[in-house]
Amino acid sequence: MPIRRSQLLVKWIFENQHKLRTVRRCSSSLRYKELEEAAVAAPEYAAPEHDEPCPHGEPEQYFKYEDLHVKLAAPYQLQPKPDAKDLGFGKYFTDHMLKINYQVQLGGWQKPEIIPFENLSIHPAAKALHYAIQLFEGMKAYRGVDDKIRLFRPDLNMKRMNLAAHRSGLPIFNGEELIKCMKRLIQIDQEWVPHSESSTLYIRPTLIATEATFGVMAPESALLFVVLSPVSAYYKTSTDGAVSIFADPNVVRAFPGGVGNRKVGSNYGPTIEATTRAAQLGHHQVLWLFGPDHQLTEVGAMNIFMVYINENGDKQLSTPPLNGLILPGITRRSILELASQWEDLVVKEEVITMDRVITLNKQGRLLEMFGAGTAAVISPVSRIGFLENNIHIPTMQQSQPVFQRLKDTLLAIQYGHIDHPYSVIIS
Ligand code: PLP
Repeated sequence: MPIRRSQLLVKWIFENQHKLRTVRRCSSSLRYKELEEAAVAAPEYAAPEHDEPCPHGEPEQYFKYEDLHVKLAAPYQLQPKPDAKDLGFGKYFTDHMLKINYQVQLGGWQKPEIIPFENLSIHPAAKALHYAIQLFEGMKAYRGVDDKIRLFRPDLNMKRMNLAAHRSGLPIFNGEELIKCMKRLIQIDQEWVPHSESSTLYIRPTLIATEATFGVMAPESALLFVVLSPVSAYYKTSTDGAVSIFADPNVVRAFPGGVGNRKVGSNYGPTIEATTRAAQLGHHQVLWLFGPDHQLTEVGAMNIFMVYINENGDKQLSTPPLNGLILPGITRRSILELASQWEDLVVKEEVITMDRVITLNKQGRLLEMFGAGTAAVISPVSRIGFLENNIHIPTMQQSQPVFQRLKDTLLAIQYGHIDHPYSVIIS
């Protein structure tokens, strides 16, 4: 009985830690002091930006937050909140959504509206359904130790969204205005932001071409909508907490001149067959390779990183450069910026081939590999299946792994254990 009771107490404390402000502050200040010292200097450094500048339009054509209309759900429309253990990834949705129509004939962007969550009614000929003229983003709202809700670098999601819109012939918009509208949506549905550090509120802004004609050309009508979903951990792992990944040189996720660097739906559908095959072979994710020299590009829907001892005997953190095949991840960029402040680590963007991984591993110089992205934050890799071989990566055998230090720093910023300019407080 006493054991059961203490388990319940631990669970309650975990889920209600934001209420234990005073207690938490004391312990967190000790635990997070070191991370804070390492992280505060970060904004002075900016990772080299290999992407094009954000496309510009005429500001007067953009939608504005000040025009936002809010229609709240009636009590009978409110959904019960699921248990934290049942959340999964994108199974449940909150009570409201944001919708903004775009219609060339009506002068472009219309007024934003927050409405009770509803199904979309869409013409069967809508271009989004046939030619995948659409894009999306993945962001999160975190409930901090101080009970404040925070976003993580939302301006970068807006920039990436506009670059994808530009490439797909969809209308661009002012990212700051969309952030303001999303903040209001999250405030309205704030009780859906989990009271826990093992779950968050996932934010899914989406832009689709709604024009109902079969011509493959820029749509005259579109819909931008934002839905919110409370989520828990995204990826399945082995018992040691790491993932096993499968590299098949016969399939590619992206190619030069394509849209691998844009978050468009057409990048994701074609990954499913390879991911299913990887699962059948006992792996969790696909390691996406490119070219005759088997260059590593991404892992699943994450950016890939490697830690090894370089030719000078220094510990080096490397990730492939943004060469058009790789999504410019916001977690990736933050990791590069933060780790560049650490004196005990060399940080580099460089081409990484499978030969290099195998050689470093054989020489005992490869220390860690991991994926990084908003959904899983950081996902350590312990095995690569490649050309009939199973390559063991000693990520989980390191005594003070870089991936854990990075993950702790990112989570400390996201959950408000340390103040940092990457965090944007909503309320
Ligand atoms: N790579 C791909 C293909 C992705 O879908 C994502 C997730 O958005 C990432 C990388 C990681 O990007 P971010 O850190 O912005 O979530």
